[in-house]
Amino acid sequence: MQVTEIYRSLQGESSYAGLPCVFVRLTGCNLRCTWCDSEYTFSGGRKMSLEEIEAEVRRLAPSGLVEITGGEPLLQEGEAVPLMQRLLTLGYTVLLETSGERPLERVPTEVIKIVDVKCPHSGEFGTFREQNLAVLAARDEVKFVLADRADYEFARDFTRQHDLVSRVSSVIFSPAFRKDAHGARDSSHCLLDPQQLAQWILEDDLEVRLGMQIHKFIWEPSTKGV
Ligand code: SF4
Repeated sequence: MQVTEIYRSLQGESSYAGLPCVFVRLTGCNLRCTWCDSEYTFSGGRKMSLEEIEAEVRRLAPSGLVEITGGEPLLQEGEAVPLMQRLLTLGYTVLLETSGERPLERVPTEVIKIVDVKCPHSGEFGTFREQNLAVLAARDEVKFVLADRADYEFARDFTRQHDLVSRVSSVIFSPAFRKDAHGARDSSHCLLDPQQLAQWILEDDLEVRLGMQIHKFIWEPSTKGV
């Protein structure tokens, strides 16, 4: 597989946020989101066998959470699916972060899928694969990254239209972070003020989770590998 990095940190942007987690960050993405903070994954990386990846994950943590992410990890589905199966067999809790554009049918059911739905401001609006809705299970999570009111209204209406709250364990509304953010570790880097987002969620009585990318507040926002 083509791998950008494997490291241990804290999970940053799901209902598992704050827990120690090993990240397997795969190389390559077919989308180009305007606020993407992972452009360094688009190319490069190094070839690793499944055995080498498994050994590195075990070296970093013998148990617990492992997240397969990218880039878009399902671009390497032919090897990513066997990798997830191996990690499950070893007893890890496996998370998969995916853009929502790739088919999810072959992802093992025990894997917790954290699936994006791209909003208008992302530049990749309309890429969500609607057939993926049928594959979402109760343990999965759906995430909307929001940059403005139009994004919020899209996410709110999509959540209601598809009854997401009763389908998955968490529906996450997360303010987009400026990709050139550096310096202060505070919400001034958010494209949408979290306080404003909180107000909208409460006004509309949505049973969604406001998600903050906590690694941007713990470490310097431009730090990689955290
Ligand atoms: S899908 Fe993820 S990795 Fe790809 S461009 Fe969008 S934010 Fe970046």
